[in-house]
Amino acid sequence: MAIAVPNIGSKVRVTVRDQDYYVYATKQWREHIYEGVVQQSVFKDPFYFAVRTGKPDFPVSEFSAKSSHIVKIEYLIGGASQVSTETKAWKIKSKDKIYLVQRVNGKFSCTCKGFEFRRDCKHIGLVGKK
Ligand SMILES: [Zn+2]
Repeated sequence: MAIAVPNIGSKVRVTVRDQDYYVYATKQWREHIYEGVVQQSVFKDPFYFAVRTGKPDFPVSEFSAKSSHIVKIEYLIGGASQVSTETKAWKIKSKDKIYLVQRVNGKFSCTCKGFEFRRDCKHIGLVGKK
């Protein structure tokens, strides 16, 4: 399975559907449109992308291409890349703690402190980098 994620620099119009906070009790859905230039997301997840809308309250909005709230993404300029969903995860027990090692599109990550600082750790070594 693959999901299209807007390329950085593309100009997009993202339509998002969500429940209005103020009319939540009535279960009314509202559509919001975010238009702007795609930039690098602050999240490491390859499915995330950020749109610089220039809105005064939230000038940059973050989206996940996997989110069910996204109704559609229109490309005004540019396009998208297909991102493969090759994801694998392992739970590694070390002393009294459990760490989560993940491989997303060939890139390893771990939830331990060592990985945070060195971008590598013994837990990733344990899963054999295969
Ligand atoms: Zn680790």
